[in-house]
Amino acid sequence: MAPAPVPVPHTLERKPQLGPLRALQPMHPRLGPWCPRLGPSRRPWFVCDILGIVFAVSTWVLTFGTAWVTTRELFLPARDLAYSLANGLLLHLQAALGLAAHARAMLTDPGAVPLGRAPGSAPDARCLWCCSAKPPRAHHCCVCGRCVRKMDHHCTWVNNCVGEDNQKYFVLFTLYMGLASLHLLLLLGVPVLRSHARGEWDRHSTVSPRRSLMYLFLVALIAFLLNSTMFAMQMYSICTDRTLIERLQRDRWLPRKGSPWSSLKAVFGHRVSLAWLSPFASPEPPRVHEHHWMV
Ligand SMILES: [Zn+2]
Ligand SMILES: [Zn+2]
Repeated sequence: MAPAPVPVPHTLERKPQLGPLRALQPMHPRLGPWCPRLGPSRRPWFVCDILGIVFAVSTWVLTFGTAWVTTRELFLPARDLAYSLANGLLLHLQAALGLAAHARAMLTDPGAVPLGRAPGSAPDARCLWCCSAKPPRAHHCCVCGRCVRKMDHHCTWVNNCVGEDNQKYFVLFTLYMGLASLHLLLLLGVPVLRSHARGEWDRHSTVSPRRSLMYLFLVALIAFLLNSTMFAMQMYSICTDRTLIERLQRDRWLPRKGSPWSSLKAVFGHRVSLAWLSPFASPEPPRVHEHHWMV
């Protein structure tokens, strides 16, 4: 099927300094022709950034590898079948939900502003990089090559921007990965603390842990620190209705519009339900952004 023609606003056609039609296309060299360049947020979305792809694939490989080593070293050798089943199912459920949220954060349009759509906008309201009409609170991402509504930051781990339309998935990714990491830390640490409390070993003991357990501990500790920190920062951004970029650009802070509760509902959905915790449930039907074009 041939791609839809690019709508060219008259204001852009009459401005020779903006260049030919290709000026409306993403200008970042890492964006290939098979990347979506315009259209509604429900279109398939993928950022063609080599570094981001490596990081995103590493996330999946590390998660699967850690789950396999955990099963082999902790659950299979355990004599208590109920303990192994309960903890194994819970840990793998958290990891699976985290990976599902990761996939949706990576493959969901974060809120890219359509290229070249500038009905009635002033020339100085256009982005200098992608020539789109820049709504309030939108920022241009050099990696994605697009302006993104309520852009918080570009995350290499999910190979995508975190913006208005995929923030829920990113928050759930950090939440479930943080919970899985904490669960693994407890599985590793509680038996050690118990044996220490029973006096079975002390700091003068010469017994050293297996390398596989040290690997699990280091991966779980680093993942827990990263994900819990990012989750706390995201919740702070949501509750204060300030993106990370807006917090850094203090002189451009906008007046706050709602309460933390209304900000939470704007990200996770206006109807409070278990869908808030599901990476498979979209927060809301496509929201109306027409007022954004009145810039
Ligand atoms: Zn832009
Ligand atoms: Zn980006």
